Amino acid sequence: MILVCSEGLSASQIDAIRDVLTRRGLDSDVSESHGRTLVSVRDEPGALEDLSVDRIPGVDSVIRTGSPYPLAALADRERTEVRMGAARVGDGSFTVVAGPCSVEDRKQLLETAAAVRSAGGDGLRGGAFKPRTSPYSFRGLEDEGLALLAEAREVTGLPVVTEVLDTRDVERVAAVADVLQLGSRNMHNAPLLREAGASGKAVLLKRGMASTLAEFLLAAETVLGAGGTDVILCERGIRSFDPGMRNILDLNAVPALRRMTHLPILIDPSHGAGRASLVPSLALAAAAAGADGLLIEVHPRPEMSRSDGSQALLPDALASLVRRCRAVAEIAREE
Ligand code: PEP
Ligand code: MN
Repeated sequence: MILVCSEGLSASQIDAIRDVLTRRGLDSDVSESHGRTLVSVRDEPGALEDLSVDRIPGVDSVIRTGSPYPLAALADRERTEVRMGAARVGDGSFTVVAGPCSVEDRKQLLETAAAVRSAGGDGLRGGAFKPRTSPYSFRGLEDEGLALLAEAREVTGLPVVTEVLDTRDVERVAAVADVLQLGSRNMHNAPLLREAGASGKAVLLKRGMASTLAEFLLAAETVLGAGGTDVILCERGIRSFDPGMRNILDLNAVPALRRMTHLPILIDPSHGAGRASLVPSLALAAAAAGADGLLIEVHPRPEMSRSDGSQALLPDALASLVRRCRAVAEIAREE
């Protein structure tokens, strides 16, 4: 980090700036550039986060030289590939994780899981613990839902991606899940991020609905800092001013995150659109943008669904969409 000092500071004023840094355990160097004094400090994560350097008298501006999220940053790292059953997310293939928003009953889940498998899906999604905006909405079958997910994996061989909402549930959800989903509403829940990171399971982290990409990566950093290594990022739409749309799917996030992080990126066109009729176009656009795959909601009878029925694809639509997305992803990969 470089502190650019105000013009015309005396030697003792510069010493006073360095003294604040020394008292925080930071060594500094002083140099001159174009008539300005520059005080530079090694950008150690943690050392500078809590220090309001801009409040040190005589500091004009601050230039950060290190990454605020060194574990998540691309730097010169290899791209992370996350193992999910037989698939690897981020290995250049186009991974499809599909299933219902909520696990509702045995027939619904097993029927959907079979459809996901025959559509060429790589993973089964389904919520047993549901974060709902209204306290009166269906909150999931909880343990019964987890048992059904385990059964669906047994029958289809598909690995299971399911959400955990509460630090107290991480152990029991991790006992069944192949990948722990951390939802949009919990992206800022640091205790949950840490607990999931320490669980030893892969984590699918959804972007907060009003979060910047930097905040998204700081959340990923929290999971990585707790010992997690396998983190998949998932863009699921951000809040917009248009009440006609549930969210606005931020496809900028794909190429932008590619340049910021080594972590793989899935797109969730279902929550991004909120309407089944918009989902195929967004999924194809995600493939064209270079996403590593999709997280997508499917339901055999959307009219009977207990959550997010409006955005659920029918199983037949999924099969054709997966085929087309993989073809687009193939073209997008060509230089
Ligand atoms: C979901 O995947 O069903 C879900 C609740 O997603 P989000 O956290 O993105 O709202
Ligand atoms: Mn949903």
